[in-house]
Amino acid sequence: MQDLYLNWIDGAWAEGGAGRMTVENPGTGQALAEQALADAADVDRAVTAARRVHESGVLTALRPVERGRMVRAMGAWLLDHHEDLARLLTLEQGKALWEARNEIRNAARYFEYYGNQAETLEGRQIPLGAGYMDFTVLEPYGVSAQIIPWNFPMEIAARSIAAGIATGNACVVKTSEMTPLTSHAFGLAAKAAGLPPGAVNVLTGWGHEAGAALASHPGVNQIVFTGSVGTGSAIAQAAARNIVPCVLELGGKSAAIVHADADLDAFLGDVRRGIFMNAGQICSAMSRIVVHRAVHDDLVERIAGLARSIDVGPGIDRDAPLKGMGAMASGPQLDRALALTARAEAEGARLVTGGRRLNIPGHFMDPTVLAGVDPASEIGQTEVFGPVVSVMAFEDEAEAIAIANGTDYGLVAGVFTRDLDRATRAAGRLRAGQVFVNEWFAGGVETPFGGYGKSGYGREKGREALWNYVQTKNVAIRLR
Ligand code: NAD
Repeated sequence: MQDLYLNWIDGAWAEGGAGRMTVENPGTGQALAEQALADAADVDRAVTAARRVHESGVLTALRPVERGRMVRAMGAWLLDHHEDLARLLTLEQGKALWEARNEIRNAARYFEYYGNQAETLEGRQIPLGAGYMDFTVLEPYGVSAQIIPWNFPMEIAARSIAAGIATGNACVVKTSEMTPLTSHAFGLAAKAAGLPPGAVNVLTGWGHEAGAALASHPGVNQIVFTGSVGTGSAIAQAAARNIVPCVLELGGKSAAIVHADADLDAFLGDVRRGIFMNAGQICSAMSRIVVHRAVHDDLVERIAGLARSIDVGPGIDRDAPLKGMGAMASGPQLDRALALTARAEAEGARLVTGGRRLNIPGHFMDPTVLAGVDPASEIGQTEVFGPVVSVMAFEDEAEAIAIANGTDYGLVAGVFTRDLDRATRAAGRLRAGQVFVNEWFAGGVETPFGGYGKSGYGREKGREALWNYVQTKNVAIRLR
């Protein structure tokens, strides 16, 4: 671990025009390291370097398999440095060490998956009758701007860089100012993989400064943003001004519908991962549980028991899978989750367990269960982004679907039942980009992920993500 981390611009480390900031360890509340902050001029240098790489044709001239090998080599580099990166991630983000290890492995997996996809992108031949030959080519947009949040800084940056380079784009990544340290690995990995300087640039800076400068830069050809709805809207407006496409991966208030015939023992495992992993700071968290009245009371008790059994404390000491939960990523994030929980209680929800700040240094919240939540209330509608689950009861299938669909979001949804007809009916009616049946987070790097409604548009993960990084050129030839 270094005392100071810099920006990676055009294949070299650089200070930033916006000075430095101190990155805090949310597990202790103590200073961790200094980070150089990029300003608009640094963003301009990074975009200029990326443009040079794109316009030189060096990435697109490569046979795709060669580009794919470099992408896979970036993932291999991450695996070679897995333990050091996992520890650094825990220290800067707060998550338990077992989760940080998973995150580094998952980040490497994106490089493997998209490295393998590089040589599968093909155009098509379109028959135009005698005298013509016509074919399409899938070409990279050019410079891909990627703006990253703090909850999964490695996984989310990895999925965009991997798909961007695999399709021949040069990338400028703006990491979150809350979790910038681990991301320095992408610069080192790109260099080790043999990518030319400027193909991958990694900057940290304030959102309103470096982030806004990147989103509005006229040299950017495509934007991928993961973060909050408000920032997503600002980025979409910047993209519209420059007429460039963007992918928006935003928030969620996702519901698991639990029928009376569901396997409740197995479901508890889904709750553990769905809402208490990463201290609930997951866009696709199971933040609402909509349960049939027949099993409601029993399930609420069991979920409360699960919540009480979770061992909360500094992530660096918690390396056994599923046992421990770490800190929330920042003091304001914790305060917001506590305030939303307190207002929920005041609005009539029953606090079954949790709702407290832990009386130790750092930003820790007790795993929290609220029951009797009114679906239309603030807590029923608002993304907490913390370890807080809202339980509500339903009588019949139609009511359950209406509750699940009854927010502005539409990121993911789940249905738990042994009745395949019922599950299939629900999958058709749920308004969400991903539907999980009998396992929350079922799927993987291979399956498309993205939102309906205010959860955003465009898809990351899976082959679908690749279509966001390429544009179609048609070549029509008159044969004489
Ligand atoms: P945020 O919107 O505050 O910040 C995200 C990134 O945008 C950061 O890098 C920030 O510096 C930058 N930014 C802020 N203002 C900007 C501006 N005006 N112009 C350009 N960039 C700007 O979000 P956050 O608090 O970091 O992340 C939490 C949110 O992200 C939650 O709502 C969560 O649901 C969502 N999220 C979604 C997904 C997904 O895949 N759908 C994944 C993770 C997080």
